[in-house]
Amino acid sequence: MIESKANRKFKEAAFYNSQNDGGYFLLPFKFHRLNGEKEILVNEVGDYLILPTGTTATIVNRQISKENNSELYGDLIANFFISEEAIHPLIDVLATRYRTKKHFLNYFTGLHIFVISLRCEHTCFYCQVSRVTENRDQYDMSIQNIDRGIEIMFKSPNPHVTMEFQGGEALLAFDNIKYAVEKSEKIAGEIGKQITFVICTNLALVNEEILYYCKEHKILISTSLDGPQSIHDSNRHKPHASSYALAIKGIKLSREILGEDQVSALMTTTTLSLEHPIEIVDEYYNMGFPGIFLRNISPYGFALRTEKSKYSTDKFIEFYKKALGRILEYNFQGHYFTEDLARIYLTKILTPFNTGFVDMQSPAGLINGVIVFNYDGGVYATDESRMLAEQKDFTFKLGTLNDEYKDLFFGAKAQEIAQVWSNEALAGCSECAFQAYCGADPVHHHATQGDMYGYRPTSAFCQKNMEIIRYLIELMESEPKIKKIFESWISKK
Ligand code: SF4
Repeated sequence: MIESKANRKFKEAAFYNSQNDGGYFLLPFKFHRLNGEKEILVNEVGDYLILPTGTTATIVNRQISKENNSELYGDLIANFFISEEAIHPLIDVLATRYRTKKHFLNYFTGLHIFVISLRCEHTCFYCQVSRVTENRDQYDMSIQNIDRGIEIMFKSPNPHVTMEFQGGEALLAFDNIKYAVEKSEKIAGEIGKQITFVICTNLALVNEEILYYCKEHKILISTSLDGPQSIHDSNRHKPHASSYALAIKGIKLSREILGEDQVSALMTTTTLSLEHPIEIVDEYYNMGFPGIFLRNISPYGFALRTEKSKYSTDKFIEFYKKALGRILEYNFQGHYFTEDLARIYLTKILTPFNTGFVDMQSPAGLINGVIVFNYDGGVYATDESRMLAEQKDFTFKLGTLNDEYKDLFFGAKAQEIAQVWSNEALAGCSECAFQAYCGADPVHHHATQGDMYGYRPTSAFCQKNMEIIRYLIELMESEPKIKKIFESWISKK
C-alpha cells in the first residue's frame, strides 16, 4: 500500500525551516518529570537542566524569548538545547562531546572471561552455573580450548585486554590458570599489548603459594562477600565449613601479600539481604573496603529455582535507598566510602565521560566490551548468556572456540543482537530522558520477557535504572553537600 502524503513520517523541509518562529530552533533533547515541582531536560550528550514543571512545554511552544527569559534562554543555548541557527555554530563541539561519551567503542572487546572450570566446592543457592564437584576432565577447560581462547583474545583490536578467570571455583583449576597466564604474558610481551589478569574466587582454597604466584604475575583477586556472617553463610553454603570465615581469612591474607587495592569484593542481594541493608554496608566499611557495589540478583536461570532469590524490583530499590542512606552517613562523617552503581550513573550524569561498565552501556557491553569463553569451548556474549545456556537456552551463544574471529564477533548472531543493543533505537528508551545515563540489556529482556528487544513499561531493568537515576538526581538537588560527596566519588578524592 502506498502511504498517503499526510501520513509520511517526515514533513516537508519548509516545515522544519519555519520552526524558529520564536527565534530559535529546537535541538534534540528529552525530559522527565522528577516530582510535582521539577522536571529534568537532558540533551544528546547527557547535559541536564532542572527546571520548574511545565518549562518544557513553554520551550517547545516557543513561549520563551531572549528578552523575557534571558537566563533560561542563555542556559538553553549554552547547553545545546536550542539554537538560533538551523545548524548550531558549535556543532563540532557537540560532535566531540558525543564521541567522548561513546569513547568506549573505540577499542572493541577488552574483557575476556575464561570459565576455567565448572567445578565448585560451594553450594550457593543462587549460583549462576550448574555446579559439579567431580569429573575434572569433563568440566575443566582443556588446554586446547585455553590456547584457542588466548589466540582469539589477542585478535582483539583493543591494546589493553583483561583475562578474567571464573568458575565454578576458578582455583580448583589453578594449574590451568598458571598455564594460561604464562602463555598470555609471553604473547602480550611479543606483540606489545597490555594485559590485566583477574581471578574470581570465593577464596576458600587460597593459600600463600597461590598468592605469591599472583603477586609475581600481577593477578588481581575478585571475591564475593554478601555481608556479615549470618547473611554470607546463609547465601553461600559450604558443606562443613563457614564460607564467611574462609572469605575473611582469604581477604586478609590476599591484602597482606598482594596489597590492599589488589583485592575487591562483590555482594549479591537475596531476600535475606533485603532486611539488612545497614549491616551489609557496615560489613564492607568495617572490612576496610573503599565502597560497595549493591547488586540485585539476575532474575533468571538457576537463581529462580528458590524463593530465597525471588523479590520484586520495588523491594530492591527500597533496600538500595536504605543502604545508600547509610553510605551517605559515613560520608557526612568525613569518610570516603562509595556505592559503585551510583558511581557509574553519576559519572555519566556529572562528567563528559562514560564508564567501562559493560552492563550499562549503549551499545550494550556484550561483544563490544566483553566475551565469554566457556569451559566446554562455547563462546557467549556475556556471563549471563552462558548461565542461560546451562538452562539449555543457547540464544546468546555466538559459536565455539573453533570458529573464526570474524564469525564470532561479526557473524549472523552478533548482527542479530546488534539490532537491539542501542537504547537510542529502542521504543521507550529512544524518548527517555535518562537514555544517556542508562544502557541496553538484550540478555535480561530475552530472559525475563522472552524477547531481546524488550518492553520498557514492564521491564525490571528499566524500572530499576529509572528510579535509581531519578533518586540520585533528586538527592543532589535536595542537598548541595550530597552533590559534593557524589562529585568526590567520581574524582576519587
Ligand atoms: S531502560 Fe528505561 S530508564 Fe533506561 S533508557 Fe530505557 S526507558 Fe530509560
